[in-house]
Amino acid sequence: MELKFFGRGAAFYPAFGNTNAFFTQDDDLFFLDFGESAFEKAVRMLDLTAYRAIYVLLTHLHADHAGSLASLCSYTHIMLDRTVYIVHPVETVKQMLRLQGICEDLYHYLPQLPEDCPVRAEPCPVQHAQDMQCFGYILRTQDDSLYFSGDAAVLPENVRQLYLRGDIKRLYHDTASHDSKAHCWYKRLEKDIPPEMRKNVFCMHLDGDYEAELKSLGFSVVTAEK
Ligand SMILES: [Zn+2]
Ligand SMILES: [Zn+2]
Repeated sequence: MELKFFGRGAAFYPAFGNTNAFFTQDDDLFFLDFGESAFEKAVRMLDLTAYRAIYVLLTHLHADHAGSLASLCSYTHIMLDRTVYIVHPVETVKQMLRLQGICEDLYHYLPQLPEDCPVRAEPCPVQHAQDMQCFGYILRTQDDSLYFSGDAAVLPENVRQLYLRGDIKRLYHDTASHDSKAHCWYKRLEKDIPPEMRKNVFCMHLDGDYEAELKSLGFSVVTAEK
């Protein structure tokens, strides 16, 4: 799974864009979140007619993660005669879309990826917002594995253990510049991951310009597609 990023910023740091990613597997296209700036980028960068199926895996419903999902559903259905699959463990996304004029005919809702999908996605509840259920995902294909945190204050201990023993190859994690109950202060990640294991930890959802500091600690930092 080669993740490409539309952006790598936090909600209040729009200069870096929304931290939303995509990848292809076999002939399917997978979006990881679809925030307010994703629609314009997806239409500009991708041929949405070129894939067998389009899946959007949602971590949570904040606008920088789901803000242009309604536009994707109506555009693909009306203009391209395609219906996207929206994957989210809880059905609250239906309510969000209904209030935006997107009825259930315009998308397929799935609580998880179907059995015959070339990717498996295991949702992991994460600490982020008090009024919303939020998830990271462990993603697996036949020969690859990664964890995508979405927005999360803490790396779940079970995921940390899987990574440290090599059962997950890469971590993509929310990385904040400051201590927070909603996002992961990079000094927390520093405690969680020993220096020799940091190269495959990719920092994302940045709220400022501290990339050099993260790299000096041995972490990697995602880059955004142009
Ligand atoms: Zn966010
Ligand atoms: Zn959020």
